[in-house]
Amino acid sequence: MPASPIVSTIDLESPGIRHGHLKLPHSHDGSAWGAIMIPVSVIVGGTGQTALLSGANHGDEYEGPVALLDLARTLKPAHVTGRVIIVPMMNFPAFMAATRTSPIDKGNMNRAFPGRADGTPTEKIADYFQRTLLPMANIVLDIHAGGKTLDFVPFAAAHVLDDKNQQAKCVAAMQAFNAPYSMMLTEIDSVGMYDSAAEDMGKVFLSTELGGGGSATASSTAIAKRGVANVLKHAGILKGKPEIGPTIALDTSSEGCFITSISEGLLEMRVDLGETIEKGATIALVHDVKRSGGEPVLYKAGISGLLAGRHFPGLIGMGDCLAVIGV
Ligand code: ZN
Repeated sequence: MPASPIVSTIDLESPGIRHGHLKLPHSHDGSAWGAIMIPVSVIVGGTGQTALLSGANHGDEYEGPVALLDLARTLKPAHVTGRVIIVPMMNFPAFMAATRTSPIDKGNMNRAFPGRADGTPTEKIADYFQRTLLPMANIVLDIHAGGKTLDFVPFAAAHVLDDKNQQAKCVAAMQAFNAPYSMMLTEIDSVGMYDSAAEDMGKVFLSTELGGGGSATASSTAIAKRGVANVLKHAGILKGKPEIGPTIALDTSSEGCFITSISEGLLEMRVDLGETIEKGATIALVHDVKRSGGEPVLYKAGISGLLAGRHFPGLIGMGDCLAVIGV
């Protein structure tokens, strides 16, 4: 693999605080010798762990950018033991377009790992994280939400891993984040994920889904800010103990947790996020909108649990994720 074309405009090593960009050359119609300028901040104070914090891995998810821009503005080297590397808007072209994937290459950052230094812009960003930023980190937090098409109860997540020692460290970080819900995730499609890239490197990794619908609320933003501070305290980078409140443990590894739409039309939810569901209860109806007077398609819970995620827009298509039941 050739060297990455991405260059950091700031030193990521020496003590102090610096704000700059990851500069990715991008020649296009509007700028012949242009570059994509991805904001980055680094705060270094003393010797300790390195935390790598990112948001907008998907461009239409906002709690990460809000919390991390706030952190970059307020964190001081005197507060830090170790290093905090902040990339608030990881897929910056997608973020600027307010879309999940990049408008330049349609790249989904969380399916682009390990990336390619000689690939598309999305693949080049993934490669820079894979070969430059991840190796610097001890603990990695990637803040997601549902984006424009999904909505979730606010949860922090860790994955079921083969290495149970590493899994325990990831779970401890998830519990330190202390979102209202804590999810053990079994991914339905883990190839190419940033999560897997970090975990395969042996890093302590945690992610979140803090809401959705293509915006952020006051409460989801507050959960993100408190969670970031808690994770930094957990890593010993910030002083003090994480603020821990109640959290509800969820798991999606059982069959029936993910419900996919097999029809298209108008979505009528019968259960809201956070409500408990008994096996056999109707979660949602999908109405045929091409004609009136027809019977809707019913979606029933195959398992008892709690509605942890749902399709967000009013219209739903064949193959869309309709609901996620957490057990
Ligand atoms: Zn996402």
